[in-house]
Amino acid sequence: MAEFHPPHGASPLPNIPDDLSIPQFFLDFNHPARPVRPHGVPWLVEDHTARPIAFDELRLRTAGLANALSSKWNIAENDVICIYSPNHVDYPVCIWATHKLGAIVTPANPGYSADELVHQLTTTSTKLLLVYTDFLPTALSAARLAGLPEDRIVVIEPSAASPFNGKHETVSKLVSFGSSKPQNFIERKLRPGEAKTKVAFYSFSSGTTGKPKAVVIPHYACIANVLQKVAHYGLNDPSLKKKHMNPGEVAIAVLPFFHIYGLVVVMHYLLFAGLSLVVVPKFNFTEFLKSIVRHKITHLFLVPPQIVLLCKHPATKNYDLSHVSFCASGAAPLSGELMSSLRHILPNAAIGQGYGMTETCTTISLMGGRQRMGTEGSAGQLIPGILARVVHPDGSLCKEGEQGELVVTGPSMALGYLNNIQATDETFVDGWVRTGDEVIMRNSEVFVIDRLKEIIKVKGFQVAPAELEGHLLLHPAVADACVVPIPDDYSGEIPLAYIVLREDAQKRVLKSPREGEQLKAALKKHVADTKIAYKRLAGGVIFIDAIPKNPSGKILRRVLRDQARVQVSQR
Ligand code: AMP
Repeated sequence: MAEFHPPHGASPLPNIPDDLSIPQFFLDFNHPARPVRPHGVPWLVEDHTARPIAFDELRLRTAGLANALSSKWNIAENDVICIYSPNHVDYPVCIWATHKLGAIVTPANPGYSADELVHQLTTTSTKLLLVYTDFLPTALSAARLAGLPEDRIVVIEPSAASPFNGKHETVSKLVSFGSSKPQNFIERKLRPGEAKTKVAFYSFSSGTTGKPKAVVIPHYACIANVLQKVAHYGLNDPSLKKKHMNPGEVAIAVLPFFHIYGLVVVMHYLLFAGLSLVVVPKFNFTEFLKSIVRHKITHLFLVPPQIVLLCKHPATKNYDLSHVSFCASGAAPLSGELMSSLRHILPNAAIGQGYGMTETCTTISLMGGRQRMGTEGSAGQLIPGILARVVHPDGSLCKEGEQGELVVTGPSMALGYLNNIQATDETFVDGWVRTGDEVIMRNSEVFVIDRLKEIIKVKGFQVAPAELEGHLLLHPAVADACVVPIPDDYSGEIPLAYIVLREDAQKRVLKSPREGEQLKAALKKHVADTKIAYKRLAGGVIFIDAIPKNPSGKILRRVLRDQARVQVSQR
């Protein structure tokens, strides 16, 4: 049977505790595989102030916030707290405080519109919303629509200039309050094995089809994926003399913590590995370059559009990046050409890709470690603990070198989609996760060839065609819609909509091409008005007579996707 394993000679997977919550594992437990952080090396550093935050401070703030959340709102077992914030030094505190109470975190993109946030709040039955000041107006609208009372909104980093100042509790005040009172909660302890089912996160992904869904991620999955990466990079292996990361080195946390890559790889794994994280709230390219130099960043974890900028933006050459020793790209494909251009920009860095998904609590494959850094175009080698199969459309198994859908299993798999049995059964099959990605395996190395699933990846973010199609159908001129990706040099992919017009609109457009252009602009605006920027129809709108469908009415997306590529290349 063709099953694929991590390469021979990979370091052994350390014991994965199944009776610890995430904060117990990170703050209270000295796992033997944990690299020793040199004395005085901070866990976090605030980018703009350079303020260091040490372990003791994080631990105390976490305990104080947990106490306050329990005292003020009685947050407890399986209550859901939504964090609607860019990266912030209190982000891990908010997560770990929630977990201490046995409650669940759902991290939301702070760029979401009120409608998008409402979807997340209602899908997860959120009880409390932690919001960064700048996003309070949207959070308030969303909370109103979702039926969440205003006194259940807490502000992260209040601003004196905000009109809402003083109207809401703040994380800092809650920390002081909780720290000054005797502990009034009993920290949630887990029975042996319970970490495998005790839920830590509801992270959003649309999976292979349909609208965004809450992926149910247990504590064990996150802890496991961290330890799998420790093993992959040989951090627990004294015989490996030169390691790709060492305690005391400094990484930039510019990838958003609300996405699984920022949450598990950057926040949890790098903190465990003993690195300091410079926490950057918003990506701005020249500020990013300045931060790399100012903090002498050694480790970059990025998405392909940021690498495009590093390679092509004229500002890069004004900065000395020679201290960067490691750069990983993930969340979307990085071409071989970009990888080799990056080698000139970061001459002293090991460069490669990682590959994973929300449903696998991130990493499936990585470059580096004991193995070579990765062939160009490769998404890395399977990490310890991952077992993979490649499957033909008829369900039979592919041999090495044959192209098919990647299906994986391992200790970090999510449990399914919240309240969605059908989607869960389609993706999570007998302990294996269907990735929806078409790959070739060679020597334990994953080459992602194409995506079989519907999602479009814009700058590494998921766009669910079904969500945009549903929204386009609300427009009075639209009879049917199909949204497909087209390639884009910077964003990787951008959405393009094929639209079938209603009869009256079609007649108007046939009479006047100008009217057609106006209608296209109106449809783009219809999406832009209610959706976050990366979901906009940047690829344009094309009118079509009918959306091709199979006899059972399922959209033949690939037909239109291939057609779009041709039409766009002729523009
Ligand atoms: P998400 O759940 O948002 O992380 O999206 C996961 C999907 O992103 C995967 O199933 C792939 O389609 C895509 N992806 C992630 N990393 C890579 C990579 N290195 N190369 C190609 N596609 C990737």
